[in-house]
Amino acid sequence: MRRVAVVGSTGSIGQSALELIRENRREFSVELLVAGRQWEALARSIVEFRPSVAGLSDRASFEKLQSELGLSALATSFEGTRLVCGESEICVAIAESKASVVLAAVVGMAGLPGVLAAARAGKSIALANKESLVVAGGIVLEAVRASGAHIVPVDSEHSAIFQCLQGVKREDLESVILTSSGGPFRTTPATQFDSITVEKALKHPKWSMGAKISIDSATMMNKALEVIEAHWLFDLPPQGIEVVVHPEHIIHSLIRLRDGSVLAQLSVPDMKGPIGFGLTYPERRLRVAMPHLDLYKVAQMNFEQVDDDRFPGVSRAKECLRVGGGASAVMNSANEVAVEAFLQKKIPLTGINRLIGDALHSFGGIGYSGLEDLLGLCSSVTDWARQRVGIVPK
Ligand code: NDP
Repeated sequence: MRRVAVVGSTGSIGQSALELIRENRREFSVELLVAGRQWEALARSIVEFRPSVAGLSDRASFEKLQSELGLSALATSFEGTRLVCGESEICVAIAESKASVVLAAVVGMAGLPGVLAAARAGKSIALANKESLVVAGGIVLEAVRASGAHIVPVDSEHSAIFQCLQGVKREDLESVILTSSGGPFRTTPATQFDSITVEKALKHPKWSMGAKISIDSATMMNKALEVIEAHWLFDLPPQGIEVVVHPEHIIHSLIRLRDGSVLAQLSVPDMKGPIGFGLTYPERRLRVAMPHLDLYKVAQMNFEQVDDDRFPGVSRAKECLRVGGGASAVMNSANEVAVEAFLQKKIPLTGINRLIGDALHSFGGIGYSGLEDLLGLCSSVTDWARQRVGIVPK
């Protein structure tokens, strides 16, 4: 039985993971559940899964959780579940938990402290939170190497590559090919981009996901973040990472080998596949509740180049890798603020790429010397970007 920690348990990935655990009760026990603000959803999961530890990062929501569970404001446990609140208590709980696998499913760079805590504690990390690698890939991997932890990617493209790489020698790998569905605006002309509404942008044609990654998919910034994620996960230079638009999104990614072979991983688009793989690796014994792939129904698969004019993110990500230093972190911080501003209807969809471009222009060449310095750079970019788009600092 695998002991699992679900960090970001109330989100889209977290809830899919809990569904998978519910469907495979004999395979898993839940050790730890952590979320941000959704106290009602967390309370339901505590009652259902009875984890050893549960927590919320937000203090006001934690107080509501205590009252929902019928506890006083001083209570720190509920029927055998220890309750923790705030980032530092959560990180200690992740490190000290008996979980053998930590599903890192927080959205944005808010996920970095939990990933680092798991990495330093030598856990197996099923990594959905791509932003932690985009911001601090070198620091996370150093912690992984030092502690003997390991990362199994949950992002469907990186999971596909990871699966294709099983049994492949590193020197035989030439490049990886990340597939992208192209998002909801793959065929929308540039002239119509300014009239794209939040509601339209949140509707992804192939996947049902959290708000931030849905907007990232609409701008293809998601693929940009994935290029950087692939760089760290598979130790590849920018020229070793290709991106192809594949609207059917049946092939989740491919690898090119030096003898000319190309290996691919295929399935219906359903995150339970990569989540199940990440939670049980190196075994594959789960009966994942995702429909079988019917190739006759798929019938046809198409491949297109990324249109750099409408979706400049992928080229920018490669440029960030070439520049090095804090460039990827700057791009990520600006994107997080820009997405928030778009969701609050303060800027149009095209404003996201403009803000990222301006942030890279102002901060892109800055290096850093350690985690604190890097986090300082991220907050400078965040403050600058918030001011630009008129978001009141939290
Ligand atoms: P959601 O927005 O649906 O969920 C995010 C989760 O993070 C919620 O549980 C939220 O808690 C929690 N959270 C936010 N801030 C904090 C914080 N400071 N401390 C603790 N928990 C916090 O996101 P998704 O599930 O869509 O995405 C999660 C990650 O997985 C992202 O990095 C995304 O890029 C990646 N990913 C997602 C895919 C998908 O299909 N959704 C596919 C591939 C990768 P609460 O809601 O309670 O505030």
